Amino acid sequence: MSHPHTPSSGFVALIGAGPGAADLLTIRALRHIQRADVILHDSLSSPDALDFACSDATLIDVGKRAGAHSASQDKICSLLARHAQRGSYVVRLKGGDPFVFGRGAEELLYLTERGIACELVPGVSSCIAAPAAAHIPVTHRQLSHSFSVVTARGAGDDQTLQEHWLALAKAGGTIIWLMGLARLEAIVAALRDAGRDEDTPVAVIEAAWTPQQRVVEGPIRQIITLVAQARLKSPATVIAGDVIHVRRQWLALQEPTPITSDDPPLRSEQEYVPL
Ligand code: SAH
Repeated sequence: MSHPHTPSSGFVALIGAGPGAADLLTIRALRHIQRADVILHDSLSSPDALDFACSDATLIDVGKRAGAHSASQDKICSLLARHAQRGSYVVRLKGGDPFVFGRGAEELLYLTERGIACELVPGVSSCIAAPAAAHIPVTHRQLSHSFSVVTARGAGDDQTLQEHWLALAKAGGTIIWLMGLARLEAIVAALRDAGRDEDTPVAVIEAAWTPQQRVVEGPIRQIITLVAQARLKSPATVIAGDVIHVRRQWLALQEPTPITSDDPPLRSEQEYVPL
């Protein structure tokens, strides 16, 4: 793989580390991590990914989790630039994909403006990978021809966000919310206001692709209660749409084949299923 780094010129690789499991890193990401002198990582990027770093690499946690103290974006940008300008091979490791609600664009432009060579390495984004972990495809020939990925915490005001969700919910198709767990009530309200059927399935996937993964799924009319009962925590991805029927079909196929000719019992929609 070619990259512009020489010992006298710094270099930054802005890397998507995927949603949680180190083996969802790309090979390109792995190669950069193995070569890095300095790694600035998020709390969402898999800690196991750091096992691939050189033993003498400097690891800096700039973790950004809702509510928790973290380095500001300005501080992260200036740290990246400072290490690169000293000639280091720097990796910026981010959860999922750097360009999906990851502020990767800001870092790329900040460094490029200062003449620092940069490479962007896409990652497996939780917007697709978290539903996949729950056996939910984001599109399906018969069930949904589009998917929208939205943030539940935009830079704009709440009303603008909710009007946007309403328009998406009216348009049909799958909707995926990142950072949406704390806004589940507003999400359900937008689905209802858009006239989506009360039986429309909604799923919430917590900590996908980690040992802590949990999935809660149910119809619009019950999802808030089910999620509260399970006490789901962040990070979690929320998805709404008929594609969730694939998960139901998949779960039904996991049932043992009945010995009698009776139909197998239906799995309750309310069931909370740790995978
Ligand atoms: N750039 C990241 C998203 C950053 S926003 C990506 O492409 O995946 C952070 C949000 O991503 C979280 O609030 C949550 O909604 C989602 N997320 C990240 N990791 C996740 C995981 N392992 N399981 C479920 N959702 C996750």
